[in-house]
Amino acid sequence: MRIAVCPGSFDPVTLGHLDIFERAAKMFDEVIVAVFHNPGKRPAFSMEERVHLLKEATAHIPNIQVDCFSGLLNEYVRSRNTNIIVRGLRALTDFEYEFQRALLIKHVDPNIETVFMMTSSEYSFVSSSATKELVKFGGSIKGLVPENVEEQIFRRLNDRA
Ligand code: ADP
Repeated sequence: MRIAVCPGSFDPVTLGHLDIFERAAKMFDEVIVAVFHNPGKRPAFSMEERVHLLKEATAHIPNIQVDCFSGLLNEYVRSRNTNIIVRGLRALTDFEYEFQRALLIKHVDPNIETVFMMTSSEYSFVSSSATKELVKFGGSIKGLVPENVEEQIFRRLNDRA
């Protein structure tokens, strides 16, 4: 059984993320989307909210599970009985960060493989932060986030403003 872990902040999930999940789900028997706490980022949505939005957005993909964790990614990956991490790549700016992370995790556990999937061209400019910025200033996020979570994102962020 080939299992892949897709870790990320997903604050919130975008169509760019979903595209990677859908493609990964065709390549692996099971895909585990794992929401994690990134100490470098202050999240707009709680862990529970992010998990909830992801569960709704991925409900149509049968071999996907949504989970969350805080702690070391390599330990989490091992706890899910796999050694494969899938990450998406957009621009050159992603590369530096992803390259360092992949090498660091390999240093910690040489058996873990990080696999990169190139973004689809229509989502190359889509990011969680751009989505939040648009919502904050009243812009449309149609076509950037999954339809079923669009309204919730809008309400949630504007409640807090
Ligand atoms: P992190 O805080 O770990 O960077 P993100 O939620 O920002 O978490 O991203 C999770 C993963 O999804 C990363 O590998 C990121 O590069 C990838 N990703 C984000 N947006 C897109 C997109 N539009 N297309 C492809 N991959 C993406």
